[in-house]
Amino acid sequence: MDRQDVLGEHSLPVAKEEATSLSNAAVIMERYRRILDLCRDAYIETDAFGIVTEWNREAESTFGWPRSEAIGQPLTSLVVIPRFLDQYRQHFGSVLALGPGAPPVELVEVPALRKDGRTVLVTTTNWVVGAGDNLRVSIFVRDVSADRAAEDALSHAFLHDGLTGLANRASFTYKLAHASLEALDKPGRPSVLMLDVDRFKSINDGLGHEAGDKLIVELARRLVELVGDDVLVARLGGDEFLMLCREEPAESIAIALARKIAVSLEEPFVIGNSEVFVTASIGIAIGKEGSADPNMLLSHADAAMNEAKQRGGSGYAVFGDRMRISALERITTESSLHRALDRDELLVFYQPVVEISYPGRVAGLEALVRWNHPQWGIVAPDRFIPVAEESGLIVPIGAWVLERACEQFTKWRDACVLSSGTLDVNLSVRQIESPEIISTVEKVISKSGISPEQLTLEITESALMSTPELAIEVLGCLKDLGINLAVDDFGTGYSSLAYLKRFPLDVLKVDKSFVAMLGSAGNRQEAAIVGAVVDLGRALGLKVVAEGVETDAQLHELQRLGCDYAQGYLFSPALDQDTFAEFVSTYSKRSFPDLRPRRRVGRAHPILARPRRS
Ligand code: C2E
Ligand code: CA
Ligand code: CA
Repeated sequence: MDRQDVLGEHSLPVAKEEATSLSNAAVIMERYRRILDLCRDAYIETDAFGIVTEWNREAESTFGWPRSEAIGQPLTSLVVIPRFLDQYRQHFGSVLALGPGAPPVELVEVPALRKDGRTVLVTTTNWVVGAGDNLRVSIFVRDVSADRAAEDALSHAFLHDGLTGLANRASFTYKLAHASLEALDKPGRPSVLMLDVDRFKSINDGLGHEAGDKLIVELARRLVELVGDDVLVARLGGDEFLMLCREEPAESIAIALARKIAVSLEEPFVIGNSEVFVTASIGIAIGKEGSADPNMLLSHADAAMNEAKQRGGSGYAVFGDRMRISALERITTESSLHRALDRDELLVFYQPVVEISYPGRVAGLEALVRWNHPQWGIVAPDRFIPVAEESGLIVPIGAWVLERACEQFTKWRDACVLSSGTLDVNLSVRQIESPEIISTVEKVISKSGISPEQLTLEITESALMSTPELAIEVLGCLKDLGINLAVDDFGTGYSSLAYLKRFPLDVLKVDKSFVAMLGSAGNRQEAAIVGAVVDLGRALGLKVVAEGVETDAQLHELQRLGCDYAQGYLFSPALDQDTFAEFVSTYSKRSFPDLRPRRRVGRAHPILARPRRS
């Protein structure tokens, strides 16, 4: 059977051999072009110089250039965004270098230019065919702008609150988690503000839900305008909003923000024909240095917000130790703490302080209270000191610790367990405010036989700054007794330098959160901050003690920064009195790195090195 028979009437007209082969090429070209034009993707072909040799119908609609205008032009002049020229050339060169037969190369979601100047997002697949003059670069181009827009719309719906268009809880939590992780490597901590409108339910019931919704939308708008671009505002649903702030110093910035919001709410909202006045309760939680737990931060902001509500609303509260303890626990703690003193359930533990240049020598000790509860066992001070402070029980407890520790110290001193050194005892702000403080300290000194210069009282920086004028007066009287005074947890309370100079201090204790920044690779900036604190202490003529020293690397760094004393788990935790005595007797026999002072090289730092006035 020959060809004629199979095709019958539909057979090709018979022609000369040459004509047949020409028309075959035309048929192939025609077939190929039709296939390309039916293709849902744009198809572009260029020669080795990037001059367009093929341009299908979809390429016309994707880029807006008709085939007749595109053919013969360099591809770069048609679709490549000028600022991406270098990347395009690099990519084109690497596809060419792969040569024919290599698997196609894909470029995902790159922006390209249309004839009308609009940008499209495309994914391209590129390969090479042919050789020499017939070498071609083939490119399939898929316009993914629409897919991306649909995806964006979907994720917008997932991540945003429908009523206000603000971020919702899911996206807020995600951003908070991200910020908390970032803060692990950099100085600075995220803070979260949770805002809840006071008595929103009665506004909603009184005006109707539609008006309630309008109020929420207006409030959202006001918040966004007020806080600026650096603060993320989200709506939790109902009348609750969240704000994420990344500026430092975290606490004072967050408080300033809360105050700003309160002021802006003094202006009424106009809803329909009525003016509505609202107030809000704001809870503030500050991220902890070195910890990235977004859920904890949210629950702390929530607890603080509830605290602000309980105080009567229209204000803010900052999450603190006191809120860490649940209300129930607080009541049980308080009632059993009352009896703890009478029942002799309190204990004093001692933590050694060492001299950095001679770490084999114990230079002093800090008295730290513990509660040996009949059911709960040994309770750490963080669990009960806040309750004791709130109830005022800290005044008798503090006096007891002072007396107990001074007696123990003189026993050790007289038995030559300790040949030198000082005893540090913590003093709470409530003790400073108590009128008996001076006579209490005076009595303890004379009863125990401790020399005043052997006693140091520690007051936290935030306690000093909470009532600075009173603190100056009381510290002055304590100083007159001849004892030493230390500022504790320095770096956490934003003291003003002017005040710091007015307190009659002898010792500065650098807070452990600063020490924790030291001793890992690449921490020059952190070291500079700690160095600035150490230098500040020295410039004020104070002995500097670093708290929370846990590693050899931190110890070396502190020595390099010129710090005098150290305290921390690297040497010992706080110990009961028998274990402490044992510790001192064996401690000096251990071997330590030689950290004796070397000549200090002059060093500038951010706080003290100010330009000299001529
Ligand atoms: P503080 O005065 O800053 O005491 C230092 C705390 O850091 C102690 O916790 C100590 O055990 C802990 N610490 C020591 N070395 C390290 C270390 O290397 N790493 C880490 N992460 N922590 C270390 P403690 O004994 O639980 O006391 C907690 C706080 O309770 C004290 O902080 C102080 O503010 C308060 N406190 C303790 N005893 C008394 C007291 O008798 N009166 C008053 N008012 N407050 C007290
Ligand atoms: Ca202390
Ligand atoms: Ca401290």
